[in-house]
Amino acid sequence: MPDNPSLDISVIVPVFNEEENLPELLRRLNLVMEKQDKTYELIFVDDGSSDGSVKLLKDLMLKIPRVKLVKLSRNFGQHAAIFAGFSQSQGEAVITLDADLQNPPEEIPKLIHKMAEGYDVVGGYREYRQDSILRKIPSWFVARITSRLVKVKLKDYGCMLRAYKRAIVLEMLESGGSQTYIPALANYIAGSVAEIPVKHEARHKGESKYSLLRLLHLNFDLMTSFSLLPIQLVG
Ligand code: UDP
Ligand code: MG
Repeated sequence: MPDNPSLDISVIVPVFNEEENLPELLRRLNLVMEKQDKTYELIFVDDGSSDGSVKLLKDLMLKIPRVKLVKLSRNFGQHAAIFAGFSQSQGEAVITLDADLQNPPEEIPKLIHKMAEGYDVVGGYREYRQDSILRKIPSWFVARITSRLVKVKLKDYGCMLRAYKRAIVLEMLESGGSQTYIPALANYIAGSVAEIPVKHEARHKGESKYSLLRLLHLNFDLMTSFSLLPIQLVG
């Protein structure tokens, strides 16, 4: 990742078998980004998809020069995919969002405006979250525990509609932990963090890529990355 950014904004989208969602996502993303008076790129990171996502993205890349594709050799997980996107990004601000339209692209301008106030990181919190109660309750606990671990209190650590200043992204890349939970790592590094309400929609098409086991794994990684307590308990 070069030190001197050549664009205003990079938008990074991790993609794992999202062929049904990509055309609508790109249509809405383009509409939103074209209205901003900013230079930008849209980086899609294919995280080992086995459906038609890669072909679709390759076709889009040929048609629209602002679209870039980073293709991972296999499935590494959402956060590792975003890290790969970070390493190829050229924007002064870097925005992440999910591919399934649960994070409406129309909310991106809110993040950009908030960031212009001088924040290092701007996170969205899902005011009316369109997920099952079985996802919402654990998230509430994770947000409280993570707030303590990284010493930055947020209502929502799970929302991936977020914006980061380039300096923070560079710092995250240097920390080398591509398995780390990005919102927590960013807040651990950042000097100033804002959290703003954003809309949340039900998944447009397809199913969540997280089984209960994968969710547990992700959250366990999060806990062990920022605290010695688990290993102390084992000791
Ligand atoms: N994703 C990914 N790699 C994975 C799992 C998910 O790149 O191993 C992407 C996925 O395609 C989507 C985002 O991460 O863009 C969030 O995944 P999902 O919507 O399944 O998570 P949920 O909303 O259920 O938390
Ligand atoms: Mg989702």
